[in-house]
Amino acid sequence: ARAMAAHADAHAAAAARRALDVTQVVGAALVDDRRRVLVAQRGTGGLAGLWEFPGGKVERGESDLSALVRECREELGVLITPGSFLGEVPLDGVVAGGAPGASTLRVWSGRVTGGELVAHEHSELRWLPADELEALDWIPADRPLLPAVRALLAAR
Ligand code: C5P
Repeated sequence: ARAMAAHADAHAAAAARRALDVTQVVGAALVDDRRRVLVAQRGTGGLAGLWEFPGGKVERGESDLSALVRECREELGVLITPGSFLGEVPLDGVVAGGAPGASTLRVWSGRVTGGELVAHEHSELRWLPADELEALDWIPADRPLLPAVRALLAAR
């Protein structure tokens, strides 16, 4: 019976770890030489039509910045060089597959340093100046990052 209980405990612990296995999401605010930032419109899924900073989920064993570079290559066809960390926003549990607030969206500035922009997964890509960001229909998680992005563009 004791062995059974120990087994059940180990099982419960593993399940708890899985439940806590947060999905980290990363995004890139890519800026150009004309004080513009790249915004992307989601083409599919529940968030279709909403605008976001390109990015996606960090895979197991991958660093945030490796994921950022990989996602930009996959989604946009470009090589990016990440810059400064801009901020972090909690994601709701439904989005990220964990408990509410357990996962976050982390966004870095960046530059396109190779390749050619192609919307492989988005319905549209646009380079926009700071004063045109607010009016877009943003994914809720991305909107709180706009002040940091505007500051980034103003500082350039
Ligand atoms: O792009 P991907 O579908 O891999 O992103 C996973 C989830 O992370 C999205 O469904 C979305 O809810 C969230 N996300 C976000 N803001 C971004 C990128 C992704 O909230 N800029």
